[in-house]
Amino acid sequence: MCGEEYSVTDTLVVCKKCGGILDVKYDLAEIQRTANRESLRSRGRSLWRYREFLPIKDDGSIVSLGEGLTPLRHVRQYAALLQLPHLSLKLDYLNPTGAFKDRGSTVSVSKLKELNMTSVLEDSSGNAGASLAAYCAAARIECTIYAPATTPREKLIQARMYGAKVKTVDGSRTDVATAAENAWKTTGLHYASHNTNPFFVEGMKTVAYEIAEDMHWRVPDHVVFPVGGGTLLAGAYRGFEELVKLGWIERSPRLHCVQSEACMPIVKAFRARAQKVTACAEGNTVAGGIRITNPARGSQVLDSLNKTGGCAVEVSDAAILRHQSLLARLDGIFAEPTSCAALAGLERLRQMSIIEKDEQVVVELTGFGLKDTRTAALSVESS
Ligand SMILES: [Zn+2]
Repeated sequence: MCGEEYSVTDTLVVCKKCGGILDVKYDLAEIQRTANRESLRSRGRSLWRYREFLPIKDDGSIVSLGEGLTPLRHVRQYAALLQLPHLSLKLDYLNPTGAFKDRGSTVSVSKLKELNMTSVLEDSSGNAGASLAAYCAAARIECTIYAPATTPREKLIQARMYGAKVKTVDGSRTDVATAAENAWKTTGLHYASHNTNPFFVEGMKTVAYEIAEDMHWRVPDHVVFPVGGGTLLAGAYRGFEELVKLGWIERSPRLHCVQSEACMPIVKAFRARAQKVTACAEGNTVAGGIRITNPARGSQVLDSLNKTGGCAVEVSDAAILRHQSLLARLDGIFAEPTSCAALAGLERLRQMSIIEKDEQVVVELTGFGLKDTRTAALSVESS
């Protein structure tokens, strides 16, 4: 934010001068010299195939569980229902821990290993914590997770299964972040909040490369994301922009942001044509993964929407649960409520004629349905 530059091997969490988030800069001309679209064909089946675009110096530091390269799947019956024949879903819940967060964790934990860190702490509403715990286990790094007491039990058990220490905090999601920050200041453990971590968002970029490569470098017209802290949408935007600058694709798709009506600070800022997001009150929603009142990458999300001609919409819990059931019954795909918020948002964007029938659309499904069975039970037991 202030323009200060640091080494990529610095252990900073945020900017020393202004406290702002840090972004990784690349020498795109160097990437141009060492990689091209054709050279990717012979590479391995993980997101590390986009090696030049990831900020790890030495291959020996890479901590990988085989993340990325998730399928882009056409869902015939569900697509017909929404009258969107060219709809595909990016099945990111097929990542190793059942959530898209593995894209970020593989890069951020590889960076911890490169810096010889032996312990780390993080705050998370569930998926990011479970993901970090898995990669820390593989890297032999001690991991402590602060999570809301309301976090689905499955996610907490998952993090503990990987050997992480899990501390639940009563109160809001912000209270959890504050507890983690206090622990960081008092214990000296390295704080790797995925919401601000510059390396985590670099991993998120790879979703853009994969969509572009899968579609033979002709990107869709629209990509729809559920948005909490904003790392995924902001990361995808960075990824598409890099490909445009390299000349690998002609343009970025229009990127759309979906939030829960119970917690929609980015939607409000978008409607007010603001440059920055103002923190909102924390409402209750089945989409716990996007219940973020003060998104760290809120202004980056707004910028991404504005630059790509995207839009921000809010959805109700009833709509989220309806789409969760529909997708499962019509096409056999069981995604968690946060992912299904993006589907409910897709329906709204279609109704608003922001997305037209003949256009190509991708929706990102971020987490697996079994990550939160208590919410899913609401649907099956009432039907
Ligand atoms: Zn700064």
